[in-house]
Amino acid sequence: MDLFDRINKLKEEGLDQIKQAENQKMLDKIRVELMGRKGELTKILHSMKDITPENRPKVGQEVNQVRDILQKQLDEAKDHFLQAVIAKKLEEEKIDVTLPGREGHLGSKHPINIILDDLESYFIGMGYEVVQGPEIETDHYCFEMMNLPKDHPARDMQATFYIDEEDLLRTQTSGDQARVLEKHDFSKGPLKMVGPGKVYRRDDDDATHSHQFQQMEGLVVDKNVTMSDLKGTLEMIAKHVFGQDRKTRLRPSYFPFTEPSVEMDVSCFNCNGKGCPICKYTGWIEVLGAGMVHPNVLENAGVDSTVYGGFAFGLGLDRFAILKYGISDIRDFYTNDVRFLEQFRKEEN
Ligand SMILES: [Zn+2]
Repeated sequence: MDLFDRINKLKEEGLDQIKQAENQKMLDKIRVELMGRKGELTKILHSMKDITPENRPKVGQEVNQVRDILQKQLDEAKDHFLQAVIAKKLEEEKIDVTLPGREGHLGSKHPINIILDDLESYFIGMGYEVVQGPEIETDHYCFEMMNLPKDHPARDMQATFYIDEEDLLRTQTSGDQARVLEKHDFSKGPLKMVGPGKVYRRDDDDATHSHQFQQMEGLVVDKNVTMSDLKGTLEMIAKHVFGQDRKTRLRPSYFPFTEPSVEMDVSCFNCNGKGCPICKYTGWIEVLGAGMVHPNVLENAGVDSTVYGGFAFGLGLDRFAILKYGISDIRDFYTNDVRFLEQFRKEEN
């Protein structure tokens, strides 16, 4: 048989085989037979040396043409099978709109996070920066920088979890104040920050105590900051969280890092000051501690206390949530009972 006839026969036979393939698997087999290393067309190319030199270019050209034609048919057939698979899948996976829907379970925000997110955006709106300090804090930042030297009696009130000589689970977020004070460039403007986060103290775990709770620290330092700035700020916070018609009062208190120090009460939102079990019949509820930044705290951080002064406050996010939502057991915050958490979905903002 003439070589060109043979090539032509291979083409016809190949096209015929492709046409008869019933599925992708059969098609793969045919492809290997026709185009593979052991296929007839490849054999012809490999036997070029037996062909007369003047015929070689023609044979090569012919073989390549046939290969192109077969390849095109193979591709088309492959595409055809792929489309068939997709069509079959679509047919099988038709959605039955008459079936009842599956209900998605959407989580709800934790009440502490509701309070936290709300306060953060409130403070950001007043130009405060939100900072986040480390939960494993050094004795240096947690105590010494905050005017609580090693032998200070107030340290006993905060019996805590030490990890080693120098590192501890922070008892307060106040370390954030020292860290920010050290870095702040007062030539660029006043310092205004809040630092929320978890704190840890060795404590009983009962309805009103937890070894872990959440604080938010606030600090404002500038020239000419006065106690009335502090009072105005605290009043705004109290009204924002507990309602515009709340009254507030400051009582003298003691904190090592502020002087003078105060505690703020708000008028009881349950009885409006008349007296009830929530306010222990006093008409007032204690909500936070605050004061004017102690000069030692400023000096420790390298800030000239004769030029700059400020105020600081610390509030308990757990306490705010307990008061605002009337929660009777602090442990509910940390036991992750979905039924408890879902009650606050309506409070989400
Ligand atoms: Zn009351």
